[in-house]
This record gives sequence, structure tokens and C-alpha cells, in this order.
Amino acid sequence: MIVCKFGGTSVGDTAAIERTASIVRGRLPRDPVVVVSALAGTTNALLDVAAQASKGQFIVAIRGIEALRARHLSVVDELLGGSTASGEIAAEVSMLFDELAHLGEALSVLGDVSPRSLDAVAAYGERLSSPIVAAAFQQRGIPATWVDARKVMLTDGAFGKARPQPDAIAEAAREQLLPIVRDGRVPVLGGFIGATPGGVTTTLGRGGSDYSAALLGAALDGEAIEIWTDVDGMLTADPRVIPQAKVIEHIRFDEAAALASFGAKVLHPSTIAPAVQRSIPVFIYNSHRPQAAGTLITFDAPRRSVRAVAGRANVVLVNVKSSAMLDAPGIVRGIFSVFERYELSVDVIATSEVSVSVTLDADLHLDAVLNELRGFGDVTVERGRGIVAVVGSGLGGHTPTMARALTALGDMRVHMCSLSASAINLTVIVDGDQVHEAMRRLHRAFFEEAA
Ligand code: ASP
Ligand code: MG
Repeated sequence: MIVCKFGGTSVGDTAAIERTASIVRGRLPRDPVVVVSALAGTTNALLDVAAQASKGQFIVAIRGIEALRARHLSVVDELLGGSTASGEIAAEVSMLFDELAHLGEALSVLGDVSPRSLDAVAAYGERLSSPIVAAAFQQRGIPATWVDARKVMLTDGAFGKARPQPDAIAEAAREQLLPIVRDGRVPVLGGFIGATPGGVTTTLGRGGSDYSAALLGAALDGEAIEIWTDVDGMLTADPRVIPQAKVIEHIRFDEAAALASFGAKVLHPSTIAPAVQRSIPVFIYNSHRPQAAGTLITFDAPRRSVRAVAGRANVVLVNVKSSAMLDAPGIVRGIFSVFERYELSVDVIATSEVSVSVTLDADLHLDAVLNELRGFGDVTVERGRGIVAVVGSGLGGHTPTMARALTALGDMRVHMCSLSASAINLTVIVDGDQVHEAMRRLHRAFFEEAA
């Protein structure tokens, strides 16, 4: 059994749903369970509707709802036009929109939107897309059975980002999904949404469909999870900076997590952790180019010294220097307690006997922080820096790679450099306006020149 998750752009319109159907048809021998997102853009539109309604702009909200209704009905018509299924599914879709309109009206009367109502509204995206996709599959000869995700994806009541209950999900998935699969059928359910054991609708947080897929894969002990999206997978660099970036065929989970922290947007690794921890391989594929190799993420891909380069600007470098640090345990703790109190998360750290340098992402409360740090020594701050990282799990201890990275930077000024003992990234701090150039140089050295 495999779990195939199709993101918003893979079910965004009729052509996308057609492609998705043919991908699933090709996988029937592997017993797919299908998880779908809302039609691209729908969740944002629904959240807008909720905001408008709660501000009392009922007419605006209703217009938004009617636009969504028209879009969904035209997809139904294009996909199923004329068939009996078409009439049935159109009626169901219309009924959901009537419900949503009532909900919008209630919110505008209340003039308020609680996290619970926000989840109720946001959930319509997947509640609509999943039966439409299931019906489209059926009409194309795929024996699909729609399943209400809220009967399977059981969560706590932390609305907006509800925490899944893995044991309850495993039990529900075995009870509700396995019989369908054993019957040779394909369960189709919405991602992102769930419910409390009491049956109140929840969501797992934005982008939560990947999480749904990973949780189901783990619950059913699937052979693989496939995340179908609109890019070829994870790349050796951000293609907007480096057009020559290549698809990474196989990446370790910790490397993917490091890349995500630099803003790689394909997927957030924490969402696939439930599957990866159980050694279930996760593939990222492009539904526009299903024949392409994609990226495989596993817990233990063979180590490689360099898997990708990444970078971002707008970094603040703070340096605290004092000879009082010599043989003075506790000073570092004191310094970090300042960051902790202001809830600033520190990204890169380098220390020497007499100094501590850290980078921060935001300069929120920076003046107050600097004032407190002055109690520990001389403080200097450098704004407008950037971080560039070489990511690879085999990097630690591999001197030639480190040497090559620093050589590649050439005459570029490096303000700070960090590599921890268990390093999966070598991080250098450069001038903010040099980030792209540094990325280009590193990418050239590791991916564009013969090794
Ligand atoms: N539709 C939801 C969102 O846009 C969940 C997802 O697509 O993963 O956040
Ligand atoms: Mg998504």
C-alpha cells in the first residue's frame, strides 16, 4: 500500500485532476490511498471569507463564497458533465456551499471568528475537493471510495494547528481504510482536516495535507508516501538564484530539514516526520511531469559531503567580547538567557575563549537586547549580513570539502563561520548583498565543475 498526496495545484482545475487520475490509475497495483488538498487557492479564499464575515462585511464574504461555488461547480461540470454522477456531486457541492453561506452569515452576526469557527470554514476546501476528485476517479474507471477525513484524522482540540492522536488515527485508519483497500478500492480523503473525538472539525495547520499523508502512511505502515506537487522535487539550490540547480535524487531527512530552515518551500520536513521515523520512504514528484525522477527523502540516505547550497539575507550578527570569559563558566548561559527572554531564536553560533558570536534573524527588540548584553562585555552588532550554507551529512570532518567551500568563496569577506561536530551544514556569514554571489560560487564548485 502507498499513500499518494496531491497538493492544491495537482487538483487545481480540470486538467490537473485529469493528470492526477492517470497517475493514480498507473499505481493501482500498489494499492494507493489518495489524500488531496483543496483546489489551489481555495484555503486562502476561505480564510478571507471568514475574515470578511467577522468584520461584518457579509456581502463581500458572500461574493467570495459564490465565486468559489461557481469555480467548484464548473470543475464538476467539466469533469463529469452530463453523467448521473455529475448531478449528484453538483448537488452535494451546492449543499456544502449553502452550509458555508450560513456559517458566514453567523460569523458576520457575531462579528467575531474563533479559531474553532476558522477551522470549520477552512475545512470546506478539502471537504469539497475530496468528493469531487473521488467522483472524477470513478468516472475514469478508478474504483474510488470517498472517506470523510474527519472520521480518520483524530486530533486534539487545538484549533488552527490541532495535534494528531497517532494511536486513535491508526485504529481508525485500519478500521475505515483497510477494508476498502482489501476490496481492491481506492480510498480518497481530504488532507489538512481532522476532528476531535467528539466530532468537532479541526485543521492541522497550513500546508497540513503533507502531514495527513505522512500520518496515514505511518498508521497503515505504507510502503511509500508520494507527495505530488508542481516542482520536480528538492533542488541543489534555489532555482531563482541558480537556474542550473539540479534535482536532488535522494536526500536525508536531516538535510531536508536544514534546507527547509533556509526557506526551501517544497515541503516542511516536520510534516513528514511521522513517516520518515518509521523508515517509510517519502517521494516528491511533479504531477506535471510524472515521468521525472523526483526526490526521495529517507532517514538514512547514503551520506554525501554536499547535497545542496542555500542562503538568505537580512541576518544580524551580534558579537560579545570580554576577557572576563576566560575560565568563567556561566557567562555563555547568561548571554543566551538574554536571547531567551526576548524569545529570539539564534541561528548560528561561534565562540572562542573570549568571545561569543551569534546570528539572529530579526532585529526585534534589538536595542534592548544589546543593552543587556553590554553587561557581559563589549558588544558589536553588524546588520545587513547574510547566511550561506553548504548542506551535506558527510561534511563533518571532511576537510577537503570544507577547504573547497572556503576556496570557492575566494576573495569574499567571511564574517563568521560555523561547523558543529555533528555538522550537516557549514555556515558562513557574508555581507547581505553577497549572498547570491556566494551561493553561485559554491554551487559552481560543488555541482557545476567536475569533482
Ligand atoms: N489546503 C491547505 C492549505 O492550503 C492544506 C494543504 O494544501 O496542504 O494550507
Ligand atoms: Mg501544500
